[in-house]
Amino acid sequence: MTMRTPMPGDETVWGGRNAVFKNPDSELWLRRMAKKGWTAPTWPSEYGGGGLSMAEAQILSDEMARINARTPLISMGLWMMGPVLLEYGTEEQKREHLPGIVRGDIWWCQGYSEPNAGSDLAGLQTRAEDHGDHFVVNGQKVWTSHGDKADWIYALVRTNAEVKHAGITMLIFDMQTPGVSTRPIKLISGKSPFCETFFDDVRVPKSGIIGEVNGGWAVSNRLLQHERENVAADMFAAAKPVDLGILSKRYAGEKDGAIADPLLRHKLSALRMREDALQLTIKRIAEEAAAGGSAGAISSIIKFLGAELNKDRYEYFLELQGQQSLGWEGDGFTEEELETCREWLRSKGNSIEGGTTEINLNVIAKRVLGLR
Ligand SMILES: Cc1cc2nc3c(=O)[nH]c(=O)nc-3n(C[C@H](O)[C@H](O)[C@H](O)COP(=O)(O)OP(=O)(O)OC[C@H]3O[C@@H](n4cnc5c(N)ncnc54)[C@H](O)[C@@H]3O)c2cc1C
Repeated sequence: MTMRTPMPGDETVWGGRNAVFKNPDSELWLRRMAKKGWTAPTWPSEYGGGGLSMAEAQILSDEMARINARTPLISMGLWMMGPVLLEYGTEEQKREHLPGIVRGDIWWCQGYSEPNAGSDLAGLQTRAEDHGDHFVVNGQKVWTSHGDKADWIYALVRTNAEVKHAGITMLIFDMQTPGVSTRPIKLISGKSPFCETFFDDVRVPKSGIIGEVNGGWAVSNRLLQHERENVAADMFAAAKPVDLGILSKRYAGEKDGAIADPLLRHKLSALRMREDALQLTIKRIAEEAAAGGSAGAISSIIKFLGAELNKDRYEYFLELQGQQSLGWEGDGFTEEELETCREWLRSKGNSIEGGTTEINLNVIAKRVLGLR
């Protein structure tokens, strides 16, 4: 996993049916990388991946970082659904879904949270009734990131109301299936990346079961581990596309080639050390994990550290830019300054998404440190 400060206009905003590319180069880069399978370097080549070993993928990643190449594809399919399909999917499911994820043609969203099931995810109530060769799904999800634009969803549903964790199944289906509807939720940052997602008598063929009926809890936790491993990288990829050192000199002044203000200099050094330490931790964990596997519960450490670091990065931006970072709109601010304010607000969600900091600390205490 490589974390780097991306260049402006970097990644795809949207792939899939609603593809929007920030610039034509992004699309060309994605297509060329996908052709080699290098959007998913370690996935088997028969499913569109690069077929590289972990060591080869690391070399590719190092070389990409060396030439400051942009991340070709940022997607939940790549980070979460794909690895789970590789582990739990049938041969048919892998052949049907993995190549579209590698190419960035199909975008996935996550139907986990519900109005009364967030941290207590197993409390979910969306129900799927068995109708022989298909299920009929009814219920509501919330906070579905990009639900209004995604092509497919992986959703946790209740297939047995008598038991809690052992009554959950993971289903995948097309977001255009009749009965699926979404309603965007406007956030404090002014953007609407989330939706409420409603299922009204949605007919889902049984070919959409991932793993076993009533075996969805293990599958969903595995997916969360992949999410937590990758979400730190996402935060960095989405981070402000400006070198913090250059920005600091611009706002705080420069003296003998260094940032003039010693306090800011100290804060920036501390941030950079944490960033480097996190990168090394991620690298170490990746190397320790079995080849092609997942880091398991240790992924909660990456998620926790990455979330807190990114929030602190934005606090630093704010301090650096002073009142210039408090603009919402208007001529007195550069586009970059306006974005800082919105992204600072967005960063607050880092310690909530993919499991809150408190929940991840619980996981670290119980499953990594073995505390009772
Ligand atoms: C940016 C963002 C993107 C998201 N994208 C998606 C998505 O695509 N799909 C999806 O399904 N969901 C998504 N979510 C929802 C996210 O998974 C939930 O918000 C999260 O799991 C917390 O659930 P909740 O909001 O219901 O809070 P609650 O579970 O109600 O928690 C409220 C507070 O209580 C604390 N708390 C709860 N239980 C415990 C406990 N046992 N021990 C200690 N503290 C506890 C929590 O840490 C939190 O501070 C997203 C959220 C954000 C912010």
